[in-house]
Amino acid sequence: MRSTILPAVLALLLAMSAGEAAAQTATSAATRRPPSSQPPPADAVGYRVGQAQVIPLLDGILHNDFATIVTKANRPRLQRVMARDGQGTVRDVSTNAYLIRLEGRLLLVDTGAGTLFGPSLGKVGPSLDAAGVQLAEISDVFITHLHPDHFGGLLGRDGAPAFPNATVHLARAEAAYWLSPVKAARVAEPQRDWFDQAQRALKPYADRGRVKLFDGPTVFFPSFRARPAPGHTPGHTVYMLTSDGQTLAFWGDLVNAGFQFDDPELPLVYDTNAPRAAAERRHSLAGAARQGEVIALAHETFPGLGRIARAAGAYRWVPVHGVTDASAK
Ligand SMILES: [Zn+2]
Repeated sequence: MRSTILPAVLALLLAMSAGEAAAQTATSAATRRPPSSQPPPADAVGYRVGQAQVIPLLDGILHNDFATIVTKANRPRLQRVMARDGQGTVRDVSTNAYLIRLEGRLLLVDTGAGTLFGPSLGKVGPSLDAAGVQLAEISDVFITHLHPDHFGGLLGRDGAPAFPNATVHLARAEAAYWLSPVKAARVAEPQRDWFDQAQRALKPYADRGRVKLFDGPTVFFPSFRARPAPGHTPGHTVYMLTSDGQTLAFWGDLVNAGFQFDDPELPLVYDTNAPRAAAERRHSLAGAARQGEVIALAHETFPGLGRIARAAGAYRWVPVHGVTDASAK
């Protein structure tokens, strides 16, 4: 399957020029307006960023041993950092996605794992339901990177697109890597499966012309833009929501596990370019600590919104309180 469908999806996506993609995005922005996307009421659930409303969506909780996501050589270093709170290396880890009501549109940042990570994940759909949003109303899905816990929710349990009217936005560098049979042949399981899963998830959207690739820093709407933050994956992307002078930055897996606040250089076995990932993390943590901007992290404890503070030569996560989830509606 990899050798036939995957190159077809890649060819379909990469053949689309950046200009075409921009034009199509502009067209769809002008013609499609989700029916229920009124401006958020003052007492809306979630977190307000100027005129925009952000609703955190819990996809689920993974019971994870962090010792398995660093190399054997780095385990003593991990143990040292994680021993500080006396809880060992096994933790419950949230997977978060985010719904944004913005300028008459309903955006989603990442989709959760869908059916790809077992029954403890895959709850973005019910979370949207709790927020009173139908899947067909989502106008745009922005993918931070093509790991299955971020794109798996693109497909429903029946294998059909979960968001039938959405355009999926993705960095071209990310598509070029995960849809390449050459790259897939170079990695071991379980990552090799991720290549197949990515192409399966994207294909039905690509077939309908609903995958838009972008290159480098990109402005999608006046209040919403992307900046590349590669390393964890080749096209890993940070999305920035800015409205009325307020900013919320969706970092995806730029900080993937809490111990990376204490030791930002500590690489993960999943990093496609660990030195680059560490450099991006160091640079972004320093900037966020200086500016005090609010960050959304896909795997920080739900709702995953917080600020970065400096602490003992490294950093510390300071959660934003008072954020209500979708079920509060
Ligand atoms: Zn992730």
